[in-house]
Amino acid sequence: MTRPLHIGLLGAMPEEIGSDLSHLRQLTSTDHGDLTLHQGVWGDGVRLTLAWSGWGKVSAARAATRLLAAAPDLDLLLFSGVAGAADAALQQWDVVLADAVIQHDMNASPLFPRFTLPPLNRDRLQPDPDWLAWASRSLNAAQEAGELKGFGTVRPGLIATGDQFISDAVVLKELKAALPDLQAVEMEGGAVAQVAQQEGVPWLVLRVISDGADEAAAQSFSDFLQVYEQQAWSLIEALLKRLSTR
Ligand code: SAH
Repeated sequence: MTRPLHIGLLGAMPEEIGSDLSHLRQLTSTDHGDLTLHQGVWGDGVRLTLAWSGWGKVSAARAATRLLAAAPDLDLLLFSGVAGAADAALQQWDVVLADAVIQHDMNASPLFPRFTLPPLNRDRLQPDPDWLAWASRSLNAAQEAGELKGFGTVRPGLIATGDQFISDAVVLKELKAALPDLQAVEMEGGAVAQVAQQEGVPWLVLRVISDGADEAAAQSFSDFLQVYEQQAWSLIEALLKRLSTR
């Protein structure tokens, strides 16, 4: 018999994973300073380790590192949260599954080209293709089955991460000029992906659009978050219940 899968879940804020702890059995938790790691069992035996990292790349990298250390047999590290839209076609509640992430504030030029991560000597990080295809299939199937009420379209795309809440159309335009296929901006995904990649663990980043990364972003973001908290778990569950189809 194969051993049960072990999935790591990270969000920046509790609202982003939603009322998740109530869905777990055999719940235990450990504190590491101000970070709490929760471990438990979901469904027919999937093991979960999860935490809320706080905003920004350092907090995200620290939480990812702690999570991986506490779960050496992890099969997948999934970051789920909200993001600003970087493509005019995206609306609030649309879902972007990262087919690549980039750190938009990484710039070690002239030693490395803009965006290149020195330790990896590349700018874009891509998730494992099998996990990505599975997640994409699963989310589409969940949507067809009516399990993702309230969510918009689900699409793969490039997500950019940086230590900046982007609420300025000019800043966004400059980023889009440098990264024409950019779909969404946020503050943690690229950091988690880098840690996972360097540690040799598969990762995925899933983001729901909360705002347009423009002047109205802060207000849209706050209003959105309250409603989103009720819905966030359905996105995670849509994936967890399809793990056996991988
Ligand atoms: N200061 C804002 C919220 C900060 S954004 C306010 O309260 O009004 C914080 C989180 O949302 C981060 O975890 C980030 O990953 C995500 N996020 C959502 N929209 C974003 C945007 N437009 N730019 C960057 N990050 C965004």
